[in-house]
Amino acid sequence: VPTSLTHAAGGVRRASPVAVPRMVAAPPAAERAWTPQSWRTMPIKQTPTYPDQTEVEAVEKRLRGGVPLVFSGETDRLTSALARASRGEAFVLQGGDCAESFDEFAKYGGKNIADTFTLLIQMSIVLMYSIGPVVKIGRMAGQFAKPRSSAVERAKNAALSLPSYRGDMINGEAFEESARVPDPERMWTAFVQSTATMNLLRTQASGGALDLNRIQDINLKFVKGTAAGSRFSEYVRNVSGALRFMNSCGVPVDSPAVTTAEFYVSHEALLLPYEESLCRPGAHDSSKVYATSGHFLWLGDRTRQVDGAHVEFLRGIANPIGIKCGPTLDPAELLELLAILNPDNTPGRITLITRMGAGKIAEGLPPLIRAVESAGAVVTWVCDPMHGNTESSPSGYKTRPFTNVLEEVRGFLEVHKKMGSIAGGLHLELTGQDVTECVGGMQELSHDDLASRYESTCDPRLNASQALELAFLVAETVGG
Ligand code: PEP
Ligand code: MN
Repeated sequence: VPTSLTHAAGGVRRASPVAVPRMVAAPPAAERAWTPQSWRTMPIKQTPTYPDQTEVEAVEKRLRGGVPLVFSGETDRLTSALARASRGEAFVLQGGDCAESFDEFAKYGGKNIADTFTLLIQMSIVLMYSIGPVVKIGRMAGQFAKPRSSAVERAKNAALSLPSYRGDMINGEAFEESARVPDPERMWTAFVQSTATMNLLRTQASGGALDLNRIQDINLKFVKGTAAGSRFSEYVRNVSGALRFMNSCGVPVDSPAVTTAEFYVSHEALLLPYEESLCRPGAHDSSKVYATSGHFLWLGDRTRQVDGAHVEFLRGIANPIGIKCGPTLDPAELLELLAILNPDNTPGRITLITRMGAGKIAEGLPPLIRAVESAGAVVTWVCDPMHGNTESSPSGYKTRPFTNVLEEVRGFLEVHKKMGSIAGGLHLELTGQDVTECVGGMQELSHDDLASRYESTCDPRLNASQALELAFLVAETVGG
């Protein structure tokens, strides 16, 4: 029963697989006992106010009896994989919707999930061929809650303002007063959709859909005719040739390493009643508590206060966690976060997801790298080139110029190269659907094109062709 789980002072203790220096002295937060509920006494941001708390408690109770979405052994395997990425022995590819949607899932019957998954696999083939092993993580099966810059939203060209949409897990997107009232039942709907999503991902990953022996079938239909699609077919030819050659040498090419894919899921740990209710003891070590809502959870740029509820929740769970690092993050504050969230300096536990903006990365990233290195902290550096590059289009849509996305990735790779640190991966908002949400790319989408297929309920996503183009850039720059 998760409510009975309590840790001794200092949160979860893990044995470090390698000798690493101790972190700076842990601040008082780390001296308090942690429980899955201890966040409830701390100041909290970005949280909904539900009209009826007893309804919330009823849903929490159902979730506490719900099946775990992920297994603690898988979660530990991801920590090890991220530790390899911190040393440059693997590259992280994390991506998916800004916000998963109930309507989109129903409209496509889950095919949107399968398509985004295929896109991530196509990108990982490009990266694997050029760089090395790829740690594949979806922003999926739980990415339903959104932090918002403003508590209220105004209708396009109208004076009326309503409480902001906070993701399908909290309230409705429709611009109507009633839709914007937080409804706890939505947590349950998100959970059910997440279990279906997880099931679909597992069948895709292990059911033969990704057998590299049939690599020519791993392609999204609408990508085939594009410039990105024809570049991808070069990789298909190369990989097929390599497999034929291995086969000729007598190396088995029907092994799971070739016919299946290891895939993890992640989301922002924003809605803490949901996260708390899905905490479970570890299967192998019941003294540890795992969030079983996903393998990897991250701390958003708006909820990373050192004495806040979100940091408190994350410090005690045994999962690998991410910290979004925006341009306002002070290096000293980052070190405090690391001391609280990873007091044992366990490799793979912390992924720093920098999201500075194309114009700020060259100045903003080096001080963070210097701070981390001076403290001897082990982290996995990942680039989110999306959230620092959001703009309003003259047509009224939120968009991201693809050139700025590419420029931030280039800047990220350059800074790490110059400073001798490891550029460990990418964190992207993308979809396998042929949407028109980010301007630019090989298809040269213009501001006027945005209206034609803008389907995101929140931030603009890269479409398949833009996402592949980004993979080619990284493959060429890192792979040489
Ligand atoms: C996000 O990843 O969707 C997000 C809101 O990011 P950030 O916290 O970095 O703004
Ligand atoms: Mn987003």
